[in-house]
Amino acid sequence: MPGIRKAIIIGGGPAGLATALRLHRHNNITCVIYELRAEPTTLGGAIAILSNGLRLFNRLGVYDDLLRCGYAGSKLTLHSMRGGVVGMQDSVDWAREQTGFGYLRIKRVDIVRVLLEAVKKEGIEVRFGVRMKGIEDVNGGVRVLFEDGSSDTADLLLGCDGIHSQVRRKYVDPLQEPEYSGVAGSFSLIPAAELPAGSVDCMTGLHAMMTEEGMFLVNPCTPDKDEIMWNFSREFALPDSGDSRDGWEEHRKAEVEGFKDNLLRILAGSRGEWSEIVKSLVMKTTVIKFHPIYRLPVGGQWYKGRCLLLGDAAHAMSPHAGQGVSMALEDTFLLSRLLEDSDRSLSDVLAKFDDIRRPRVNEIYAQAAKNASTRRKTGPLGLWMKESAWGIISNLSWALGLDKLGLGQKHLAYDIDEAEL
Ligand SMILES: Cc1cc2nc3c(=O)[nH]c(=O)nc-3n(C[C@H](O)[C@H](O)[C@H](O)COP(=O)(O)OP(=O)(O)OC[C@H]3O[C@@H](n4cnc5c(N)ncnc54)[C@H](O)[C@@H]3O)c2cc1C
Repeated sequence: MPGIRKAIIIGGGPAGLATALRLHRHNNITCVIYELRAEPTTLGGAIAILSNGLRLFNRLGVYDDLLRCGYAGSKLTLHSMRGGVVGMQDSVDWAREQTGFGYLRIKRVDIVRVLLEAVKKEGIEVRFGVRMKGIEDVNGGVRVLFEDGSSDTADLLLGCDGIHSQVRRKYVDPLQEPEYSGVAGSFSLIPAAELPAGSVDCMTGLHAMMTEEGMFLVNPCTPDKDEIMWNFSREFALPDSGDSRDGWEEHRKAEVEGFKDNLLRILAGSRGEWSEIVKSLVMKTTVIKFHPIYRLPVGGQWYKGRCLLLGDAAHAMSPHAGQGVSMALEDTFLLSRLLEDSDRSLSDVLAKFDDIRRPRVNEIYAQAAKNASTRRKTGPLGLWMKESAWGIISNLSWALGLDKLGLGQKHLAYDIDEAEL
C-alpha cells in the first residue's frame, strides 16, 4: 500500500460510509468520517439499486441486511394512459444470470442506516455536525480545518460530500458547478394500507406510465409491499429569477401546495385500472417533496494532491439510470484495489483511478441523460409514438430472444474488480 495509514472522509452518505468500511476492512486504513448533519439524515425517497451495485454491497457484507429492508421484484411494466399494458419485461433478468444479483427498491434512509450500523460495528469513528472550513497541504499529508476550531491530519482526504461538495469547491476543482438538468420531480411514500383494497396485489416491481407532461413511476419499497413510492418527473423551466435558491423555493411552494390539482389534471384523460391506482396514490398523499434535478457537467477534476472526490462529489448525474449509488460503490472498490499495491505512489493511484473510472462514468452519465429525456414534454402524437416504440422494442426483444443477449443490461454486469489495472 502506498503509505496510507489514515484517511479523512468528508460526508457520511452512501459513498463515505461504504468507502470507510471497505478501506478499514480490506486495506487496514484508519478512517474518520466527518458528516455535516447533526444526525443520520432522514431525507430522500426510495431508490433503485441494480445488479452491479448489489454485487458490491454483497462484497461489502451488507447485502442481506439491505434485502431485508427493500423490495426486490424486478418486473418493469409500462401502462398506457389509454388503459391497458403497453409492455412488460424483467429489467434485470440477463444481468441477474451473469452476476447473481438483480434489483432492489429501498429507502435511502435504510441504506444509510445499514451502512452506518456496519461502520459502527467496525469501530470506525463518525463525527456528526461538523462543518469543514478549509484544506491545507502539510508535509507528507493533508490537514482539514473545521469551523469549531478543530483540525485533523491524514495521508489521504476523500471528498464524499455529494453534489454540492465543499471539498471540490474549496480545494479540488472550484470552477466545477452543478447545472440544472431541465427536469424536476416530485415524490412521496404512501402506506399501502391507505390504498383501496387489492391495489398493491398487482404491483410486481417498477410500474411506469408516460403522460404528455412527464412520467409516473410507482414501486413498492419494503419486502412486504407495505410502503409504496410514487414519483412524477417532468420537464420544468428554470425559474424566471434564474438558478437561485429563492426562485426554486417559490416553485417548490407552488408545486407542493398545488400538487393534487396539477397531477389530477395531468391524469384527467387517463383510463383503466392502473390509472385509478395512480390517482388514489395521489389522493392519499399528504406530503410531497419537489426536487429539481442537478448534475455535474462531465470533465471536471476529481483529484488534487492527496485528495480524491468520490460518488456524487465527483460525478453527480441524472438519477434516471438508477446508478448513482452503484457508481459510488464502483469508485470505492477501485480505490481499494489500487491502494493494495505497495509499489504505486499515491499520485499514480489517483491518476490510474481517473483513467479507469472516466470512460465508465461517462457511459452511464450519457445513459442517465438519455433516460431523463423521456420525461420531456410532448403532445398526443409524441406520447403515442413513445408508447408504441417501447411496446415494439419490448415485445420484439422477447419474441426474438434478444433479451437473452443482455441488450440494455450489459452495463449492469460490469465488475469493477475485473477492470485491468
Ligand atoms: C430524486 C433522486 C432520485 C435518485 N434515485 C436514485 C436511484 O434510483 N438509484 C441510485 O443509485 N441513485 C439515485 N439517486 C442518486 C443517489 O441518491 C446519489 O448518487 C447517492 O446518494 C450519492 O451518494 P454520495 O454519498 O456520493 O452523496 P450523498 O448521498 O449526497 O451524501 C453526501 C453526504 O455528505 C454530507 N455532506 C455534504 N456536505 C458536507 C460537508 N461540507 N461536510 C460534511 N458532510 C457533508 C451530506 O449531508 C450527506 O450525508 C437519486 C438522486 C435523486 C436526487
